Amino acid sequence: MIAAHTFKDRTVALFGLGGSGLATARSLQAGGARLLAFDDNPKSVEATAAEGIATGDLHGLDWSRVDALVLSPGVPLTHPKPHWAADLATAAQVPIIGDVEIFVRERDAQTPKAPFVAITGTNGKSTTTALIAHCLEASGRDTQLGGNIGVAVLTLDPPSPDRFYVVECSSYQIDLAPSIRPTVGILLNLTPDHLDRHGTMENYAAVKARLLQEAGTAVIGVDDDYCAGIADWHESEGNVVVRISKERALDDGVFFADGEIRVAQGGAVTKRFPLAGIGSLRGRHNGQNAAAAVATLLALGLSEHEIANGLRLFPGLAHRMEEVGRQGSVLFVNDSKATNADAAAPALGSFERIHWIAGGLPKEGGIASLEPFFDRIAKAYLIGEAAPVFAATLGERIPYEISGSLDTAVENAARDAARSGAEEVVLLSPACASFDQFRNFEVRGDTFRRLVEGLPSIELSSRG
Ligand code: ADP
Repeated sequence: MIAAHTFKDRTVALFGLGGSGLATARSLQAGGARLLAFDDNPKSVEATAAEGIATGDLHGLDWSRVDALVLSPGVPLTHPKPHWAADLATAAQVPIIGDVEIFVRERDAQTPKAPFVAITGTNGKSTTTALIAHCLEASGRDTQLGGNIGVAVLTLDPPSPDRFYVVECSSYQIDLAPSIRPTVGILLNLTPDHLDRHGTMENYAAVKARLLQEAGTAVIGVDDDYCAGIADWHESEGNVVVRISKERALDDGVFFADGEIRVAQGGAVTKRFPLAGIGSLRGRHNGQNAAAAVATLLALGLSEHEIANGLRLFPGLAHRMEEVGRQGSVLFVNDSKATNADAAAPALGSFERIHWIAGGLPKEGGIASLEPFFDRIAKAYLIGEAAPVFAATLGERIPYEISGSLDTAVENAARDAARSGAEEVVLLSPACASFDQFRNFEVRGDTFRRLVEGLPSIELSSRG
């Protein structure tokens, strides 16, 4: 745990006592803050109080004496409307911060030179974060991985000069971390998303761009107009910018082309990192993630050999185009994280002949946008509430069955795929939320894995 020493004897109000909120409360308590923690859920308040942490309704607080309000992710700061705790703090001109801010203050105070990589963007954050941390670890660096990826940043080991921090940041966490100054800041891409949280695209882009403002090196994906503009702006301010692209060759920067990552300087390619044969980095979208990782690792001083070795051994993340196993010439891939059509597109674009398991709780727009990939689909196996809607979109063009459940879908897809004898893929990439049949996308993906593991003569892919 990282104790929040920079808050010693400060009066801090904390709202939101879920997993990371509780971790923040522990960190503040350990650092000697005068803390009052609260949540709208009495059970969470009770559990926190049972640990000896001071709890109480923040309505009754003398806000003129509060130094900071710490909000947990998930508690609205501005959109759709500010939470009442945020309103109280704003009225009293109390700064509102999050756990990443506490982390960066602690690092700045203790080991300001300890390498710190912060990653944001609309898509690919977790993959890029995990890939960078994996390469650092594989090269023998002392590495800590956390943030939005599911490990609260204040639960990591405390700063030490040679310890590398790799931290995934949501736009919300950036919003609440005004002092963030990473060694390398990464902005992968920007597409309209989470506008419910940030109002307009301009505001969303501005928040994401702030991560880079004081970064030692800013690594920016320039394939969308917003990010390209942000890169130009940073450069005009005299900041160190490394551009990355998954779409086109760059004269200066790091890009993906012909299945490899190329590093270019003054129009000449100076380094190449082949991705062929690395199952966990399949697809153009992963070309962007790998380009960001290469740019970052070079900036951090890793050798070409160390980077190539790390890329080659990357096990990938669960539920994101994750290879589960092979049965003869049939590959089984778990892409349960694809909870909408946009997220399913990269997987559908990465394989040639697909037995596609899709469906669940449908999202607006359905799968119409996936039409360009329909000729890759040998057959679709439709599950959950979305099945009839998806069937209507597939129409006469694509063979499909209404499988109903995931068990039936896996069984039938495995049988059909095996029959052809060619290289085929059984792909779970549902383009839907899971909540009609599963607790979350992780449980859906784990269920798929279990079903595949139960198939006869399956060779499981190794992980980790
Ligand atoms: P995030 O953490 O930003 O949600 P993940 O790394 O967890 O992203 O990837 C989630 C899904 O998004 C993947 O399964 C893949 O379909 C898609 N994806 C991954 N990287 C990218 C990228 N660079 N651009 C577009 N889509 C991506």
